[in-house]
Amino acid sequence: MTFMQLGIFTTIFTFVLLLFPYRRIDKRLEPSVEWVMNIVNEECPKKNYFWPPKIIIKIAEEPSYSYVGICRTNPVMFVIEVQEYFYNLQNHEFMNQLLAHELIHCLFMQGHIKQRGNLMNPEFQPLEDDYTEEQLREFAKKSCQKKSE
Ligand SMILES: [Zn+2]
Repeated sequence: MTFMQLGIFTTIFTFVLLLFPYRRIDKRLEPSVEWVMNIVNEECPKKNYFWPPKIIIKIAEEPSYSYVGICRTNPVMFVIEVQEYFYNLQNHEFMNQLLAHELIHCLFMQGHIKQRGNLMNPEFQPLEDDYTEEQLREFAKKSCQKKSE
């Protein structure tokens, strides 16, 4: 393929994505995603966070012990993957915390904060729902206010 063809192909592909938004959220992760997004939308009523046409939130196909969750983004999509063994622990607080962490990466482009007790600490330390919620609200509020200024 020439660069010209590649450019045309990419443009068409982007248009198709914009015309047909695509969302795939694993049923098993839905309760935690909903929990997070309800809080985010309370703080961001204008929904001025990164919400691309293509969104995939799923259990990773390949097991890995190097991460429990990961967020990958490009201009038209984001993908969040969660490790199955972590999901299998069946701890709702862990899952809410993990999805909050990954969604803060994806929605607000927030990096890691290596600080004990911080929701964005890459070393996973279990936090209680109340504490996760409090921090999630702070990140959402800060990021959405900044963008609407
Ligand atoms: Zn992270």
